[in-house]
Amino acid sequence: MYELCLECDDCHATLEPRGFLGRCPRCGGLLEFKYDYAAIRAVLDWEAVRGRPKTIWRWHELLPVRDPESAVTMGEGGTPCLPSLHIGPSLGLRRLYLKNDTLMPTGSFKDRGFALSMNWAREWGIRRGITYTSGNAGHSFAAYGRRIGLEGLVMMRTGLAPERYKLQSLLGYPLVLLDFNSFAEVDGLFSRLAEEFGLMQFVNFLNPVRHEAMKTYAYELLSDLGVVPEHMVQPMGTGGGYWGAYKGFSELREMGFIDRLPALHVVQPQATPPVIEAYNEGRMECRPTGDPSATIASSIAADDPIGKGRRVLRALRATGGRAIAVSDDDLRWAMSGLGREGIWAEPAGAAAVAALRQLVATGAIQPNDRVVCVITGSGLKEIGLLPEGNARPPLRIQADPAAVCDALRGYWAPTAKGGV
Ligand SMILES: *Cc1c(COP(=O)(O)O)cnc(C)c1O
Ligand SMILES: [Zn+2]
Repeated sequence: MYELCLECDDCHATLEPRGFLGRCPRCGGLLEFKYDYAAIRAVLDWEAVRGRPKTIWRWHELLPVRDPESAVTMGEGGTPCLPSLHIGPSLGLRRLYLKNDTLMPTGSFKDRGFALSMNWAREWGIRRGITYTSGNAGHSFAAYGRRIGLEGLVMMRTGLAPERYKLQSLLGYPLVLLDFNSFAEVDGLFSRLAEEFGLMQFVNFLNPVRHEAMKTYAYELLSDLGVVPEHMVQPMGTGGGYWGAYKGFSELREMGFIDRLPALHVVQPQATPPVIEAYNEGRMECRPTGDPSATIASSIAADDPIGKGRRVLRALRATGGRAIAVSDDDLRWAMSGLGREGIWAEPAGAAAVAALRQLVATGAIQPNDRVVCVITGSGLKEIGLLPEGNARPPLRIQADPAAVCDALRGYWAPTAKGGV
């Protein structure tokens, strides 16, 4: 364990990192883990790390965990960073990479954070937990909660794709369906419930452990690419994934493994743009804005980010990133493009790709830059929202060789055997 303390963003009070965690007990601010990087630098052997299993746990020196050998795992992390063969070239980008987190155990990048936070709960004997979800967090919370025998309660928003409720129900945790208009209405609920029923909160940032796992993006990308990419593009709901990646790159720089940060770009739906508005108006705090039901990207439809989005706004400034708003049409274009790359992504999962056209058109990204888009969630959970890939409907023919060959001549000229 190399974490020194938890520090409050607002009053800077420090706390010993142990047991039941939530907001700052003094002022209600958000807590952040602080580490002894000199000590970590002294023991972290990059080559040895690369010999460990490909999960988030290979970076355990940089995570709040006491006993990495017996850590909770379902194989999360270590996902492939695929060179783009279709989307990149279509935009004139020579070095676009797709970090494919649709391959996670429950189909979204949330598994990184829930593996780590459930492991924390296990190590400190936490018996009960609660989370809010627009889909993926609840699946991940319940799957990992089951692995440690946690008593869990899931609060899920209404109006999601029907598959989401089915998948949640299969994990067997009690489910509360919440009707609300703005997330501001939900925020106060958690502390109240946590207090009354002794539940640890697993909502991003209210639980300071979850986003620590998102630092592994930085470590994995440096390990995969061998260099810091010029750009990383990430969708944002609460900003836990984005902030975690920023923290990870900052740590690598602090320890001297890299000498610059990528430009970290953040993507929100046009329907809920609080960070985009704040950033473009030069504010360091968001105001609630937008309508979460007005986009197909339900996993990132957040009108009122916890902590007023201050962490994300700080990271945008520090890295010179852009804040991009995407429309549902942009998202469908991105889902189609990803289909041609062999990846089924949900709308939010395709949001980083959906932002690329704007990033290229404004010159923020140049043709030779290395760009990583995180594909955060699988399209298999929202089949109904996937666009059609083919312009033409499928052919329907009797299974007779002559008839099929005849029909296919419209697609292909007959060629030599083996096709070469
Ligand atoms: C939760 C989620 C996001 C947003 O992540 P945050 O850490 O809340 O910003 C993006 N994409 C998908 C698929 C998600 O499930
Ligand atoms: Zn405080």
